[in-house]
Amino acid sequence: MDFPTSSLHNQHIQKKNKFPFRFGFVILFIISVGLNVYLLYFDQKTDVVVASISQDSVEPLQPEVYKKEVPLTVKTAVITPAAFTVSSAGTVEGKTIHSLSFKIRNSLNYTVCRIITREKGCAALSAHLGRLMVWFMDIKKGMRNGDYLEVVYQQLEGPEQFKILKLSYKSKLFGKTFEAFYFDEFDPKNGGYFDREGKEIAQRIVEAQSPIRHYIEITSLPGDFRKGIGGHSGTDFKTEVGTPIYSGFSGKVTRTNWNMRANGYCIEIDHPKLGIKTLYLHLSRVKVKRGQTIRVGQQIAESGNTGRTFAPHLHYEIQKRKNKKIIYNPFTFKHHKSYTRKIPRQYYQSFQKTVKLYSSVIKES
Ligand SMILES: [Zn+2]
Repeated sequence: MDFPTSSLHNQHIQKKNKFPFRFGFVILFIISVGLNVYLLYFDQKTDVVVASISQDSVEPLQPEVYKKEVPLTVKTAVITPAAFTVSSAGTVEGKTIHSLSFKIRNSLNYTVCRIITREKGCAALSAHLGRLMVWFMDIKKGMRNGDYLEVVYQQLEGPEQFKILKLSYKSKLFGKTFEAFYFDEFDPKNGGYFDREGKEIAQRIVEAQSPIRHYIEITSLPGDFRKGIGGHSGTDFKTEVGTPIYSGFSGKVTRTNWNMRANGYCIEIDHPKLGIKTLYLHLSRVKVKRGQTIRVGQQIAESGNTGRTFAPHLHYEIQKRKNKKIIYNPFTFKHHKSYTRKIPRQYYQSFQKTVKLYSSVIKES
């Protein structure tokens, strides 16, 4: 008769002994689920930033810091915000042009957000500035407190839509002033940013080798951001969905559509002779199959907005074949031919007028 009691008793003890163990397991489980959710969210956040904001070392990771700091520190920034209407004849006739000039403090985003509010789109404006700046320097390494920036821009319909017309950045580290002027008279659909002499700031890959021939702008270069230690691993070309995508080199398709949650529709091509692989992510349509031989310039896909991306773009990546952590910048990669455009001769005078006009905006304001 003792047996059942003893058995119950034993069970009780066993339960008692198991309890902390199970409890611990449940806690661990909750923590891991929580961590996963957090990482997922955080990861997506980071990627959105990668695609949308070009380079900045402070803002994207700690957006709440601004909300606290902006009202407290606005007064200490060196500010000359101004808005006026260019009424004289010129390419910007009748449009409201804004200008800002300020000294960098902490980071581009941080500084811009101390001058114009988040509601007015400071993050978007500094993203635009950052995208242009990538052609001058690695912002994370090259910016110094006290560097002087002047920007002339136009606010377009949306609250976060800007068009930078002029950017001038006086760098302590490089001991020079970088300048960029927007000009599109020679080709309104394919305008660009040029230095004072009329040489384009951004580079282009020659058409025969370019993964994409029509794009709005480069939004990110390899090394941008903190996506892992090495930063962003590819080059992002902002473009409409459905834009033809071509292979940058001859090779063989090794993979398609892997890790689609992050990459969306995607292609990997092996180029053993060059010791590299090329990757094409966020596509809307894949037109090749695994094992297929591809020649340079062959259309392989259509661009899209699939996977972890916030806006339609092509992510193009050149990896070292034997160590995929080594990423090449397509514009400096030895097997890619790149070039910069120049203002066509017949437009040079008009371009110089534009330079003068935008430069006067800063002085007058
Ligand atoms: Zn990318």
